[in-house]
Amino acid sequence: MKLLVTGGAGYIGSVVSALLVEAGHEVVVLDDLSTGHEDAVPEGARLVRGTMRETAADVLGGAGFDAVLHFAAKSLVGESVEKPGLYWDKNLGESLALLEAMRVAGVRRIVFSSTAATYGEPESTPILETDPTRPTNPYGASKLAIDTTLAEYARLHGIGGVSLRYFNVAGAYGPLGERHTVETHLIPNVLRIAQGDGESVRLFGEDYPTPDGTCIRDYIHVLDLGRAHLLALDACEPGRHAVYNLGSGTGSSVREVVEVCRDVTGRDIPVEVAPRRPGDPAVLVASSDKIQAELGWKPERDLRAMVDDAWTFLRSR
Ligand code: UDP
Repeated sequence: MKLLVTGGAGYIGSVVSALLVEAGHEVVVLDDLSTGHEDAVPEGARLVRGTMRETAADVLGGAGFDAVLHFAAKSLVGESVEKPGLYWDKNLGESLALLEAMRVAGVRRIVFSSTAATYGEPESTPILETDPTRPTNPYGASKLAIDTTLAEYARLHGIGGVSLRYFNVAGAYGPLGERHTVETHLIPNVLRIAQGDGESVRLFGEDYPTPDGTCIRDYIHVLDLGRAHLLALDACEPGRHAVYNLGSGTGSSVREVVEVCRDVTGRDIPVEVAPRRPGDPAVLVASSDKIQAELGWKPERDLRAMVDDAWTFLRSR
């Protein structure tokens, strides 16, 4: 297939682009390189530098694309609270430009990078796709708005859309790993301390109602996540919008993650307890039963493999 990957120079987009190239697809990456890295675009994929508003119509028009995989987005929860307008503009606004360009060009399939943040504070665990969506920040709200838009484009314009709601993505795929300028995620931050870059890990809150008092999250290996995109692509049906959670179905606490990092790195990783981070729910664990049952996906790599691969990646840089 001929595929457009928006945000293909970023962490998850680059891993998916690499898997698509390996599977024999023709891949064009559209990325403005605002947070992505040119050298993360895999060999065999062509990079077009630009925003969706500026370039999607030109790139897609009359070019025979079969589908789009849409990753390009702003993804920092804290920043979204400070600058909600930026998130509505970049996430929803740019996505609308992309969808319109698809409609005009007759490209009828899209796999979208949605998020667990669309659910907000869950009422029950594990989270099902049918659970209420009540995002607690503009990042989650803007992603939910795109899911809703996709449902409308499916109903009214016959597009086939799949939204994949990611839980906590971690790990690396060879030379493709997390390289955020502002790193907020737990595993890369802990490994950075293991590497000697900084004094101690700041553990945000140990008074949550969980067994060890720290937050529980559902970590998923970026390669398992990437594989799900290839299945989702095949599952895009014109006129239908489907939502699937993507997690491993098991939760790990912040302290458990730090322990695995100590074990993998063999380093003593000091921890200092800091206040809760605003907006962090105590437990976020996905039910991935739906994607397992309908698309035959299942996670193959555990937390240790994620930390192992992230550590190998970090040390290679
Ligand atoms: N966390 C932490 N220290 C850090 C980064 C994260 O204690 O330096 C905690 C955070 O409060 C949350 C969990 O680790 O409970 C996972 O956070 P992350 O930012 O990786 O993902 P999120 O669940 O927010 O998407």
